[in-house]
Amino acid sequence: MTNSEIAAVFDRVADLLEYQGGNVFRVRAYRNAAHTIGGLVEPLATVRSDEDRALTDLEGIGDDLADKIEVLLDTGRLPLLEELKTQVPAAAFELMRVPGLGPKKVKQLVDTLGIDSLEALEQACREKRVEGVKGFGAKTQAAILDNIAFAKDPAHARMLWNDADAIIQDILGWMRTCPQARQVEGAGSWRRGRETVGDLDVVVDSHAAAAVMDHLERWPGLAAVLQRGDTKTSIRGPQDMQIDLRVVAEESFGAALQYFTGSKEHNVKLRSRARDRGLTINEYGVHRLSTAAPPARGDAIAGRSEADIYEAVGLPWIPPELREGGDEIERAELGRLPTLVELADIRGDLHMHTTATDGEDTLADMVRAAIDRGLEYVAITDHGQRVTMARGLDRTRLLKQWDEIDRLNESLASDGHSPITVLKGIEVDMLEKGGLDLPDDVLALADWVVASLHYGQQQPRDRITARIVEAIENPFVRVIGHPTGRLLNRRPAYDVDMAAVIDAAARTGTFLEINANPWRLDLDDRHAAAARTAGVPLVISTDAHSTRGLDMMRCGVLQARRGGLEKGDVANTRSLADLRRLMAKKG
Ligand SMILES: [Zn+2]
Ligand SMILES: [Zn+2]
Repeated sequence: MTNSEIAAVFDRVADLLEYQGGNVFRVRAYRNAAHTIGGLVEPLATVRSDEDRALTDLEGIGDDLADKIEVLLDTGRLPLLEELKTQVPAAAFELMRVPGLGPKKVKQLVDTLGIDSLEALEQACREKRVEGVKGFGAKTQAAILDNIAFAKDPAHARMLWNDADAIIQDILGWMRTCPQARQVEGAGSWRRGRETVGDLDVVVDSHAAAAVMDHLERWPGLAAVLQRGDTKTSIRGPQDMQIDLRVVAEESFGAALQYFTGSKEHNVKLRSRARDRGLTINEYGVHRLSTAAPPARGDAIAGRSEADIYEAVGLPWIPPELREGGDEIERAELGRLPTLVELADIRGDLHMHTTATDGEDTLADMVRAAIDRGLEYVAITDHGQRVTMARGLDRTRLLKQWDEIDRLNESLASDGHSPITVLKGIEVDMLEKGGLDLPDDVLALADWVVASLHYGQQQPRDRITARIVEAIENPFVRVIGHPTGRLLNRRPAYDVDMAAVIDAAARTGTFLEINANPWRLDLDDRHAAAARTAGVPLVISTDAHSTRGLDMMRCGVLQARRGGLEKGDVANTRSLADLRRLMAKKG
């Protein structure tokens, strides 16, 4: 089982215990465990098999939870959860998937209105029966209707890109060892860098399809063969992920890669452009429509490479991240495709945590890991005091950490030139009632201040927006962290007027973050593009809570590329001196 699956089991246990009115500390223990595990990058199975470490080293994991993790890793099931499931009405599960509907609220709806399904709840909302239930009201009723649509959307049950990437990299590596496979590439939404991926597509260039399929069936990650044909085999891999592998001839490889990369909308536009030019595009290549007989595979005018396909319809090659069916074809035609930012352009990481709050690794370890990754500067941004769950820093502890950073910088520079500069930072919290959780006289001493909203996320739109705009207007706040608060598959964005936020950021010279955590990817592509258009500098940050978390930068870069961002749009592609010049534009 993956970390996210185990976290989901613990969350579910907490839900059911809460539904039953169970002990609050027990409920919280499961919630905290789910939170810790959900935030880990390293698989729990790896932690467990490491002789030098124990599962109980993890924050909030005691002996009992460690045992349960082992049971889950061994069997994929948890007897406690199965027992709880028999005690709670089945509909309660379904209802708890609606964001904002906690176990207690669900129980109230079940007990007072006899709601027994999502449909029944939807109907009760439409008939305005929910607003009459104690503690609900008309606003909550409207929010529930919205969120039912969210819960029903299958897009929210897809796998995170980063998890899908681990699977496809394994399978690509395996298929590249097949002697009969000449070229092997992944396609589909994974290649386009979508935040979540439904299934995986692999395209192989070979004249020996059967041998390639046989090789696939020997892949150690294979759980089942779903269907095997002459040119396509579908299998089930780890975590029920479906993988479709297609074998094509060399002269069709580019056509197949283009076709199966999609998106559907992009390909529809491309095909219509081809038709206008008397051509037809399919997975075998580009053919002339004028030939009397249906096009045969031999007489394609393009197909070998993707670039050939685009060239045949008068376009430059379009990066997969832009192929979502927006205006990319028009921009390509005008020669206005962006030169997208790349991972190698990134020179600093401006959001990370250490053991001083809820990080797993020490300041020194984080900095060493950043040097290993070739970064020129990092900002240490542990939580401010409001985040009590993470032992957030008050003035005294923060100043102590900054002394430590001063000493670290001195020792790094002891031989004349330092490999890295460590910035004294903080992730302050925007308080529910407005204001920040540390005073300005402390923030004035920081090199870098991230302001984020972690509490009061259910507040109405105007309140949330006002809190964020207020933080933006603070002269010491440099960047807004994870500006919409969404957690993929788990929690929708909070209700915020992003246009107003982008506006305020542009007006004050405040940066906006693209948080690279695979659960967040926040700002998303569209908001990042809007910020860019408004002239707001973006910062791609990992928000790493461990040294391994620093590797998530690539997920943030992918999201930036989907938003059409170039190197110049991303502030942390600059040297530290240039970054400081950009920062000086504020206040
Ligand atoms: Zn945060
Ligand atoms: Zn953070």
